[in-house]
Amino acid sequence: MATNRILHLDMDAFYASIEQRDQPRYRGKPLIVARPAAERGVVSACSYQARAFGIHAGMPTAVAVRKCPTLVVVPPNLDLYKDVSRTIMSVLRQFTKRVEPLAFDEAYLDVSDRCPDWTSALELASTLKQTIFEWTNLTCSVGVSFNKFLAKLASCYQKPDGLTFISPTNFPLFIEQTPVTKFYGIGDVTGNTLRQMGIFTGKELMRLDEATLVRLFRKRGSVIYQCIRGIDERKVDNNRQSKSYGKEYTFAQDVNARSDELDEALRNLTILLCDRLTQNGHQTQRLLLKVRFADFNETSKRFTLEQPTDYASVIEETTKLVLQRVVRDSRKIRRIGVYALDFALPLSLNTNSQLSLL
Ligand SMILES: [Mg+2]
Repeated sequence: MATNRILHLDMDAFYASIEQRDQPRYRGKPLIVARPAAERGVVSACSYQARAFGIHAGMPTAVAVRKCPTLVVVPPNLDLYKDVSRTIMSVLRQFTKRVEPLAFDEAYLDVSDRCPDWTSALELASTLKQTIFEWTNLTCSVGVSFNKFLAKLASCYQKPDGLTFISPTNFPLFIEQTPVTKFYGIGDVTGNTLRQMGIFTGKELMRLDEATLVRLFRKRGSVIYQCIRGIDERKVDNNRQSKSYGKEYTFAQDVNARSDELDEALRNLTILLCDRLTQNGHQTQRLLLKVRFADFNETSKRFTLEQPTDYASVIEETTKLVLQRVVRDSRKIRRIGVYALDFALPLSLNTNSQLSLL
């Protein structure tokens, strides 16, 4: 089988870098992109200078400001970031049509048919970085490897402005020294479980057999087992639409799981979500409910409806049941989110499109 040559590109501190690019007075300063503390904002991006203060994405603005009193807080300008993102993605498509965007600032590229060997893949990666910089005045980090898992691992290896190659022969070395929380598929919860077992690095994770990982993390355990052994068959999917969208809401004051405020927020979220589904002519069957508690612990639950729908009342009703199952105690809730994870065209639309073909 021919070797796949996969690139993973990740812009460096994307939102924060755009703000620093456009406002010379922000350059070299600790800066976050976030809504202000008074609005209970959360950090969505931080400059490298801000990271030096221990500030990271997901942290409340109030905490970030406490850590660094001179911190510049810039409210998010999503239209601008989206615009820059569009430029980046079209630059990437000049190099290959096989581009799979993962986020505004992240994409996989499959350059196998353009690059007969690793030398040419690395040259292409370097040209890519240069071209992105010429078009946007922003730096990015690129990982090059033979599958998605390792390419993504490579891109975060030397940030910012990095170019890292993980080869078919040296990949075990990379796996061994990497903290498990950096691996794709290992989030906070999984990472915590592993930490409690005394497992911090890939080297320690390699000692667990597949059965143990499956017992701990079900299907994902098996994926993790394969990935750290260099096996990841996922293809770069250039037809991928944004596979999920959702809405979140932060309460002005923390609320109980059984309260009118929560019910109302849930209703509004599902209405907004369904508006978006309807606009795109979509229905959804798989959803995700996210709950953030007052103590900033987070929990989420995936669930599946009996059939695809774009009816807010159907989604609302099921989401409520799921919420009651997820939150059984009296913990206060700070934020909730509802996401649609898949999209189907409604049956009637399918029929129409067939008719128009005739
Ligand atoms: Mg990034």
